[in-house]
Amino acid sequence: MDAIIKKINRETTEPRSIVTRRPSQEEAEAAVRTLLAWAGDDPAREGLLDTPRRVTSAFKEYFSGYGEDPVEALSRTFEEVGGYDDIVMLRDIEFSSHCEHHIAPFVGRAHVAYLPTKEVVGISKLARVVDIYARRLQTQETMTAQIAHCINNALAPRGVAVMLEAVHTCMSMRGIGKRNVATITTQFLGEFRSNPVLQARFMELVRAPSGGYSF
Ligand SMILES: [Zn+2]
Repeated sequence: MDAIIKKINRETTEPRSIVTRRPSQEEAEAAVRTLLAWAGDDPAREGLLDTPRRVTSAFKEYFSGYGEDPVEALSRTFEEVGGYDDIVMLRDIEFSSHCEHHIAPFVGRAHVAYLPTKEVVGISKLARVVDIYARRLQTQETMTAQIAHCINNALAPRGVAVMLEAVHTCMSMRGIGKRNVATITTQFLGEFRSNPVLQARFMELVRAPSGGYSF
């Protein structure tokens, strides 16, 4: 197989703000103690003593996407696909992210498809891209667009389709207090945008019964 490492336009895929000075571990833990006290509890009581350390290490996992490059994840492509030029789709990619307004989790599934020109990418890499963007502070709309544009820039395919379905805890646990409301966002680019038949095929594939595989 021919693996090609490419140079890619990064403009639309970079994080929007870069931290100029990263606070120290001690400063981050102090900030957690401040919030605990502000909520009305005593950060010095035994049950909370280790909480600042745990919260900061959880943050490292939740937001590991800032240290990773989604474009890099798509930099190895393969040309030997036997002339395959139809939809390549990954369905039901589970993700968990955090809304940038409340740092509240939102969890759901992503469906990602593209129409290759002459190169394809390892399919697990599409799931990597979803994960990297999910592990940043997000809005669902932004995340949907970022995934689509990243694939579009990296692979220059004929088209890209992305759908995210998620439940937002900032909506279920606070504010309007509605549970089990699905938020659905879609982004179509290229032929998926211009051709309603392709859009309909994508939607059909999203809704097709899965056969319940689990390996
Ligand atoms: Zn929110």
